[in-house]
Amino acid sequence: MKSYPDALEALMAQLRKLPGVGPKTAARLAFHLVRQPSADLESLAAAILDIRERLVLCSFCQNLTEIDPCPLCRDESRDRHLLCVVEYPADLVAIENSGAFRGRYFVLHGTLAPLQGVGPEDLRLEKLKEIVTDARIEEVILATNPTVEGNSTALLLRENLHPLGVRLSRPACGLPVGADLEYMDPVTICRSLDGRGTL
Ligand SMILES: [Zn+2]
Repeated sequence: MKSYPDALEALMAQLRKLPGVGPKTAARLAFHLVRQPSADLESLAAAILDIRERLVLCSFCQNLTEIDPCPLCRDESRDRHLLCVVEYPADLVAIENSGAFRGRYFVLHGTLAPLQGVGPEDLRLEKLKEIVTDARIEEVILATNPTVEGNSTALLLRENLHPLGVRLSRPACGLPVGADLEYMDPVTICRSLDGRGTL
């Protein structure tokens, strides 16, 4: 049974694909959008199309950027031999805002999650190994979150990077078990990076 005009049904169907949006929220958002002025709708549509057209992955850190390599990777004042591996772009932003780290990053865009079908082949391991070797990285900080998935990802990274002869470390005490870097305060991030231990 169909209850809305086709255009509205189509919009709701797209909105329902977003994380955390069920049928009721999709309907509420769709009706909200219907009431907006054309100019706002055009800006929204343009912003959505822009992320496709203007964002690429940085060929070094794999973070989202409009220029490749990204401004952070091009910054000559950063320590070129120190690499911090994080799960998501939001973790990079959290560490960057803490001011505790002056090296470069590598974004995995995920963690090992066998139940969700995410295996080692989905984590850009080959790219990471290539960067560690080619950029003559001396220390890799495995800053995946202290969760079950984050810890098993750190172990997988250790297995893969250890043969390359690079120093490996993991942010220490201060990071609560099960916590998410993205939501951690800058002071805690600073302390845990300063107190990182060799793996
Ligand atoms: Zn980059």
